[in-house]
Amino acid sequence: MKTAIFGGTFDPIHNGHLTIARAAVSRWALERVLFVPAGRPPHKAGATNAEYEHRYRMVELACAGQPDFEASRLEAGTENSYSIETIEKVRAGLAPGETLYFLIGADAFAEIRTWRRWRDVVDSVEFLVVTRPGHEYEPPQGARVQRLEDMRLDVSSSTIRRALALGKSVDGVPASVLDYIRENRLYGA
Ligand code: ATP
Repeated sequence: MKTAIFGGTFDPIHNGHLTIARAAVSRWALERVLFVPAGRPPHKAGATNAEYEHRYRMVELACAGQPDFEASRLEAGTENSYSIETIEKVRAGLAPGETLYFLIGADAFAEIRTWRRWRDVVDSVEFLVVTRPGHEYEPPQGARVQRLEDMRLDVSSSTIRRALALGKSVDGVPASVLDYIRENRLYGA
């Protein structure tokens, strides 16, 4: 099954994530996007404000009713989550030789060389990189990279968290996710 991994902190998931995933599905005829909330992302130590179970549940709510979007628990319970481990788990369920895709924003891709076993990551997947203004990157040699041109999505989890903490109105998250945030008083909402 033509699969892309889409990892993130998803703290919280927002419409930008969903728009990117939907665009990738139509552009590359993906059959499945696995949204994988990071257990405890090594790159964002201390920056996660909602517990894993909340972040996972919000991803699940955001994916509801979209059969090609799947919330994945592959990084549940991991002290540190490393993409290579997730990739190896997903790969184990694919046909031999099948291409595995990895959807990622240019800001995250620019740091690929800091990832654990990044060479193995590069050898294991084909990257679908969402370009973002101000985020240039030099793909490592041998990396298979296709670009999804910038969609100018002016939304990020951090701006959403800030707005919630200030009691401001929030757009850019699905209604079901916003309800969940308020019910559980996440991010100071
Ligand atoms: P934060 O604001 O907390 O840094 P974020 O909004 O970037 O969070 P993440 O969960 O860290 O959200 O992002 C997951 C993936 O989605 C990353 O690969 C990131 O580059 C990409 N992404 C997030 N928002 C956008 C956006 N507006 N445009 C393009 N890519 C995005």
